[in-house]
Amino acid sequence: MPTPIAITKTEAVTHDVVRLTVEKPDGYRFTPGQATDVALDRNGWREETRPFTFTALADADHLQFVIKVYDDHGGVTQQIGGLREGDRLLIDEPWGAIKYTGPGTFIAGGAGVTPFIAILRDLAAKGDLAGNRLIFSNKTERDIIMREEFEAMEGLDCLFTVTDQPDSALARGLVDRDFLKKHVTDFGQSFYVCGPPKMVESVSADLEALGAQPDSVVFED
Ligand SMILES: Cc1cc2nc3c(=O)[nH]c(=O)nc-3n(C[C@H](O)[C@H](O)[C@H](O)COP(=O)(O)OP(=O)(O)OC[C@H]3O[C@@H](n4cnc5c(N)ncnc54)[C@H](O)[C@@H]3O)c2cc1C
Repeated sequence: MPTPIAITKTEAVTHDVVRLTVEKPDGYRFTPGQATDVALDRNGWREETRPFTFTALADADHLQFVIKVYDDHGGVTQQIGGLREGDRLLIDEPWGAIKYTGPGTFIAGGAGVTPFIAILRDLAAKGDLAGNRLIFSNKTERDIIMREEFEAMEGLDCLFTVTDQPDSALARGLVDRDFLKKHVTDFGQSFYVCGPPKMVESVSADLEALGAQPDSVVFED
C-alpha cells in the first residue's frame, strides 16, 4: 500500500544527481541495499512507479534517496529534478536488490552505486569497513557521486575509473577482464556489482570467467 511522505530537503550531489531527504513513516524498516517503488504524489504521476534505493542509515529518523535525473526521458526522474521541500512522494514496501554477505569488492557504474551507499555507510558506522573495496566507474570525474564521502570512509579502499576523460589522473577505461585482472588479486572474495544492464552483464561474466561468484543488480536506464 503506497504511503505518502513529504520531502524535507533537496540537494544537488552532482550536475545531474539529486539527494532527497524525506519523512520516514512510523515503523518503516529496510535493510541496507534495499529499494522501494517510488511515485510522485501528483495528478497523472501516481501510477508511474520507479525503483530507488534507500541511502540513509536504517536507524535514521528520515529516509533518503540519491537519484540520477534523466532530463531526456520525459519520465519520473525528470519530474524529480524539479521537486522542492514540501512536495510529496508515494513509497511502497522495501524490496530486494543487493545484500551484504561479507567483505569484498563493490563494483558500480554511475547511479548503480546507490545500494552500496547504504551498505558502506552502515559498515562505516559499525567500524566494520576493513577489507572492503569500491571500484566505481563513471564517464568523467564530475559524474562521480559522493567521491569525498567514500574517500573519507576509514577502511574502504577506493578505486575510481573514468571512461570519457583522457586528461584525468584517475584510472581510465571500462571495468573489463583486463582491468579486473590488473586490479583484483583474489577472485574468491565476495563481489557486488550494480549499474546499467550492459555493464552488469559484462562485469559479471568477466568475474565468473575469472572464478568469482558475483551478486549483481541491473539498473535500467
Ligand atoms: C532495484 C533498483 C534500484 C534503483 N535505485 C536507484 C537509485 O537509488 N537511484 C537512481 O538514480 N536510480 C536507481 N535505479 C534506476 C532508476 O529506477 C531509473 O533510473 C529510473 O527508473 C529511470 O526513470 P525515468 O522515469 O527517468 O525513465 P524511464 O523509466 O527509463 O523512462 C521514461 C520514459 O522515457 C523513455 N526513455 C527511456 N530511456 C530513454 C532515453 N535514453 N532517451 C529518451 N527517452 C528514453 C522511456 O521509453 C519512457 O517512456 C534503480 C533501479 C533498480 C532496478
